[in-house]
Amino acid sequence: YTGLLAIRRYHEANGGGNRNVCLIPQSAHGTNPATAQMLGMKVVVVKTDEKGNVDIEDLKAKAAEHQDRLGALMITYPSTHGVYEEGIREICQIIHDHGGQVYMDGANMNAQIGIMQPAEVGADVLHMNLHKTFCIPHGGGGPGMGPIGLKAHLAPFAPSHAVTPVEGATEGMSAVSAAPYGSASILPITWMYITLMGKQGMEQATQWALLNANYVAKKLGEDYPILYTGKNGRVAHECIVDLRPLKAESGITETDIAKRLMDYGFHAPTVSFPVPGTLMIEPTESESKAELDRFIAALKSIRAEVQKVQNGEWPKDDNPLVNAPHTAFNLTDGEWAHPYTREEAVFPLPYVRENKFWPSVNRVDDVFGDRNLVCSCPPMEAYEG
Ligand SMILES: *Cc1c(COP(=O)(O)O)cnc(C)c1O
Repeated sequence: YTGLLAIRRYHEANGGGNRNVCLIPQSAHGTNPATAQMLGMKVVVVKTDEKGNVDIEDLKAKAAEHQDRLGALMITYPSTHGVYEEGIREICQIIHDHGGQVYMDGANMNAQIGIMQPAEVGADVLHMNLHKTFCIPHGGGGPGMGPIGLKAHLAPFAPSHAVTPVEGATEGMSAVSAAPYGSASILPITWMYITLMGKQGMEQATQWALLNANYVAKKLGEDYPILYTGKNGRVAHECIVDLRPLKAESGITETDIAKRLMDYGFHAPTVSFPVPGTLMIEPTESESKAELDRFIAALKSIRAEVQKVQNGEWPKDDNPLVNAPHTAFNLTDGEWAHPYTREEAVFPLPYVRENKFWPSVNRVDDVFGDRNLVCSCPPMEAYEG
């Protein structure tokens, strides 16, 4: 919001008060259009091609169509499809040529730190999500908290603060948040991370993040299609595992697989974002090879389980996948009427036995839960008397 606001103010100061069109690629995170809406901008969606990249012809057409009102492009690099968009420089140039500014969503800085500079490829603004690349807990202290980088021409349009004026911000630009620098209890975590890692360590973290994602993509690519890769068959810091073909063949869904991962001791990675029916895996630099190998083994074993359903060894409606996750209660229940063993249910691989995580309940219907919010606040009458 702060970054886009600086762009709006910049246009207003330069006779571009009508520049309220914001181009956003189809692959963007929902926070992008939501932010543009909050600023009263008109969102125009840019298509993505079959390789997952921004459709440059469509971008050119839309930039030209709206050139008198073009305010900004919001772009994520590498894209949420997990690929370094090769056309990034050209994309930024097209926007600049049509009078717009480039806002880069910095959620994927884990693939940039130490190896490239966003400003150098053409970004005018970049938001560094500290909970994505810089170690703070996700959501702790407010999702999205972090510094906003602005190119020099935008600096005067940064928000200032009544108590702690921001150096260089033009007078009259009011604050966007109560605390001038964000949460004092959260930000030292990032400061310590950067200080302890140093320049070389930060660069190495990026390299490990890329290596880990490519290791996972290569290994899992033996069993599942990896949806998008660059021209050398590589991904950036995350990869999308496509579960849709398997679902079509076997009836086993992405939810079954996500829930089954709990029996193997894993919290599922991102499910159905940015592409429905897929898993997006972002190992980051912080997982050891042993942990990655356990995770890969779990997904390979799950693939073999799906095969048993496909072969008819296990019925479609009674197998460890559709019944996942399994609890300690299931294990100790006197009755066991399933066509697979209790061991197959709760200890599907040897490593699980050594360090078992027990899900406390069986499957929760996520979609039902998301759509049926329950207010647990007691009504006023509860306080009477
Ligand atoms: C995570 C993410 C965001 C914003 O996340 P918050 O947790 O809401 O701050 C924005 N864009 C992309 C590409 C992301 O991955």
